[in-house]
Amino acid sequence: KKVAGKYLKREILGEGTYGVVYKAINKETGQTVAIKKIRLGKQKEGVNFTALREIKLLRELKDPNIIELIDAYPHKGNLHLVFEFMETDLEAVIRDRNLFLSPADIKSYLQMTLKGLSYCHKKWVLHRDMKPNNLLIGPNGQLKLADFGLARLFGSPDRRFTHQVFARWYRAPELLFGTKQYGSGVDVWAAACIFAELLLRRPFLQGSSDIDQLGKVFAAFGTPTASQWPDMVYLPDYVEYQYVPAPPLRSLFPMASDDAIDLIAKMFTYDPKARISVLQALEHRYFSSAPLPTIPNKLPRPV
Ligand code: ADP
Repeated sequence: KKVAGKYLKREILGEGTYGVVYKAINKETGQTVAIKKIRLGKQKEGVNFTALREIKLLRELKDPNIIELIDAYPHKGNLHLVFEFMETDLEAVIRDRNLFLSPADIKSYLQMTLKGLSYCHKKWVLHRDMKPNNLLIGPNGQLKLADFGLARLFGSPDRRFTHQVFARWYRAPELLFGTKQYGSGVDVWAAACIFAELLLRRPFLQGSSDIDQLGKVFAAFGTPTASQWPDMVYLPDYVEYQYVPAPPLRSLFPMASDDAIDLIAKMFTYDPKARISVLQALEHRYFSSAPLPTIPNKLPRPV
């Protein structure tokens, strides 16, 4: 079936990790979409089949807080992924100095992020590349996770493109220690970084290298002890660090409520086995206590 002719290509929206993203219109329905052109490069043809099979699984992920993969087709040696078009993203919201984010607004953005994650974790799909510019925001204020599963499908982006350094700031300590058997906890850590960023209005742990990233993490939460994280010493890149005590979390987030601080602490747990799950986080009293999360269409957004 000829899919490429179905869409009318418009302007370039941006250059992403895997290739160019275009705005396009579905000629039949008039629907505006975003088409992500993924360079498959010098990979063997067999890889295309594997990718397409996995893409098929991604197409079955359907949730209000997940960006929908509408279509996927190979064209001129590139893989084209067609997504629903989104107006803005959480990075733009956080950065916009004209926007005031109330505690209820922050709660709403975090809740939508965790809802999208919980849906995917339930289906055993990890995101692995959570960061504010991967959290897209639609016309009714709905936040939707983008790029689900792509990190695993097309390889860790940071090894391929240098502009991906930002993803480091959201990386869980087990990844920084080189673990190969990571789980859903990596997405929880990244979501915690995004939570912190919503509160601070700037990226929380801005490491300039992987080593520096660990340093930033330790400075914020203290160096992990063997009793806090028994498996740490077995991780491939584990090295012993000079002891740093943990400052009170409250001092890092002076404006946060007690409930918010309690949830942050549980999401930033060092041992991935002891870290709160996405589902448990959604059941935390932070989300049921006042102020209740803002209704999405009432959320402040850039004009
Ligand atoms: P990165 O890999 O750096 O996260 P992406 O490949 O996701 O970047 O996106 C590149 C650009 O395309 C960004 O500016 C992003 O805002 C835009 N974009 C990506 N997906 C969509 C979408 N579904 N709707 C609108 N714009 C999008």
